Amino acid sequence: MADLPDNAHTDTLLAQALGWLEPMSGGVVPAIEMATTYKRNSAFARDEGIWYSRPENPTYWQVEALLARLEGAEAALVTGSGTASTAMVVEALKTGDYVLLPQVGYGGLHFMATDMANHWGIVFESYPAGDLDAMRAMIRPGQTKILWVEAPSNPELIVPDIAACAGIAHEAGARLVVDATFMPPPLFQPLKLGADIVLHSATKYLNGHSDVVAGTIATARADDWWRHVEHMRFRSGAVLGPFETWLLLRGMRTLHLRMERAQASAMAVARFLEGHGRVRRVLYPGLESHPSHALARRQMDGFGAMIAFEIDGGVEDAAAVWGATKLIKNATSLGGPETLIEHRHVSDGYDSPVPPAMLRLSIGLEDAADLCDDLDRAMGGPGSNRGRGIGTKLAQGLGWESRPHAGVVLPLHMASTYATDPAAYGKPYAYGRDQNPTGEQPEAVIAELEGAAEAKLFGSGMAAAAAVFQALASGDRVAIQDSLYWGVRGMVKTLPAAWGIAADWFPTGDLDALRAAIRPGETKVVWLESPANPGMAITDLAAACAVAREAGAVSVVDNTFATPLLTRPLDLGADFVMHSATKYLNGHSDIIAGVLACREAGPFWQRMAAIRHQAGAILGPLEAWLLMRGLRTLDLRVARACRSAIAIARHLEGHAGVAALLYPGLESFPGHAVAARQMTGGFGGMLSIRVKGGEAAAMRVWSRFRVFKIATSLGGVESLVEHRATVEGPDSPVPVDLLRLSVGIEHIGDLIADLEQALVGA
Ligand SMILES: *Cc1c(COP(=O)(O)O)cnc(C)c1O
Repeated sequence: MADLPDNAHTDTLLAQALGWLEPMSGGVVPAIEMATTYKRNSAFARDEGIWYSRPENPTYWQVEALLARLEGAEAALVTGSGTASTAMVVEALKTGDYVLLPQVGYGGLHFMATDMANHWGIVFESYPAGDLDAMRAMIRPGQTKILWVEAPSNPELIVPDIAACAGIAHEAGARLVVDATFMPPPLFQPLKLGADIVLHSATKYLNGHSDVVAGTIATARADDWWRHVEHMRFRSGAVLGPFETWLLLRGMRTLHLRMERAQASAMAVARFLEGHGRVRRVLYPGLESHPSHALARRQMDGFGAMIAFEIDGGVEDAAAVWGATKLIKNATSLGGPETLIEHRHVSDGYDSPVPPAMLRLSIGLEDAADLCDDLDRAMGGPGSNRGRGIGTKLAQGLGWESRPHAGVVLPLHMASTYATDPAAYGKPYAYGRDQNPTGEQPEAVIAELEGAAEAKLFGSGMAAAAAVFQALASGDRVAIQDSLYWGVRGMVKTLPAAWGIAADWFPTGDLDALRAAIRPGETKVVWLESPANPGMAITDLAAACAVAREAGAVSVVDNTFATPLLTRPLDLGADFVMHSATKYLNGHSDIIAGVLACREAGPFWQRMAAIRHQAGAILGPLEAWLLMRGLRTLDLRVARACRSAIAIARHLEGHAGVAALLYPGLESFPGHAVAARQMTGGFGGMLSIRVKGGEAAAMRVWSRFRVFKIATSLGGVESLVEHRATVEGPDSPVPVDLLRLSVGIEHIGDLIADLEQALVGA
């Protein structure tokens, strides 16, 4: 099932979750096995095979295999929470065993040690975190079974020397267990440094979206002791649900991008705090002043995104700053897309060993300048007047919180109908086809990105496109470019004709031809797409929308390929924007969704809104919720895809196996000058190549891809390659030697190597 080269980079392993395909369908995303029980084979022994979902669920396997690969482990498990992972290790001990713990560390571990395991006669002793001499002095050879370290430690971010800790543990016959929650793999791999067990609260960076509580545990050796620990998940029952497991895997696909952004921002925020007059000291392993700086540099790939800092003053001063941040949320936990601040001394309880004026930050995916600004204001500084960055808006989903509980992730509202007051019947929520709170946040975020007055979600991109045509009347005409997404072409060739609506096709990007195609008074809609599928033809959107407006027609731009991060059609004069949100907006190849957005909510918009209500092509709440989750990493994903696409285009320029390269970022591409003007931040992640040697050569090349998955669609975390002429059928205008690439977020080296091997001998 694993279909990636053995030497694939960890970015690639993450983006594709090892490249596994769902065995029944070839799906690029695993199925969620919801069954609690499985039909048995009567010939099997009692616990052979899958028989009940507490011992085992097939949904676990891909996550566990990916995790084992990242950690360099022989085996790994997902569990119901980070605490459950901890408990499994403790539960595998016996009365009279000793455990050596850090004095200051994750509070939950100490509660478990004192409340629970003490009753079983397991003895817990604690050493000052990071103090190797104390560990040596306290460990009891033959009796201490576990030396426990947190790395980096909570909250001071001490990074112990793992190899030295392993030496101390092993000499005494103990096992070294590392809680590496603050620094996920592959950036930190304690097993490779000599640790025996590494565990994570996967709630944090691994899942990374503040919406799943989960744990992981991985072992250097799958020996008998591990089997004993492993058995605890089944025996004491701290399992993870299949849907949470699936979400965890989905979260892990962007781990590399999230860590890259969060670490860079953490460095910027740490430097800012270091220079701030109200800050007494900053603890961040990336700062030269941090006691663990040199060790962190040697043992880890980066310094993580957790910062602790002490305010000048006492507990009240720290609490006042804690309460004064606006953008940064006062909440516990860490590792999510939103930046969190916590006064651990208060939240840990009255006997907390954490210094009273210390605040802890978990740096998320917002723009670092916005975070510094917020901290400055909270500490009484002037801040600045700049508007919030795109990264900030996306990471926080505009900062929306649930009501009444102030959750940082909005709930999934499943109700199809809402009880209301007869005096205001049906307000604000009446029926699930018309309103569902779950869709409101992604609609607001997309409207914000597009600079739109409103946005509305649809059940698919095609449903959004169809609403435009459904809003017309018999006798109306549509001017439409001839090179575009084939599904829209197919629809326009059939449905509107049956409804008495005529289409006038014009050569893509040709403004004179557009002018000629428009019949004033009759042409109601001009349909545009730039870059256009699959030849990437560019249209000057400002000019084309002006032509439409002069003729009294509305312009609609299918902005699926560019995304609002690269092109904002409404700013260029378009009236409406349409997306297949299946593609970049969601970005995880696991929902079908569409959206329309408008510059002004005028009569045509109202008509399309009414069509959604009447024809019923709505998006379900689960899909809307997943879309919002995907949007949080949109800028990270699009930036990586753009960077890799231009690198691929440059690499393939002049390649012996390539007859032509179609990418708007290349100076040689006909639409380049216009694209450079109307696209900002990149030229997109889509490019097409025309293979030398015609159709047969193109088909041979297509069949050889391994990292690029041979599948339709685009805009997901995984790279895809498609021979469009095959998909579109005999009346397709697409050249038969053309392969379309959707560049994902894998490592560029793996993508180029895959292209090279596929093109060999073409
Ligand atoms: C995929 C796509 C569509 C259709 O969207 P669905 O979500 O598949 O219905 C429309 N336009 C473009 C450019 C697309 O790539």
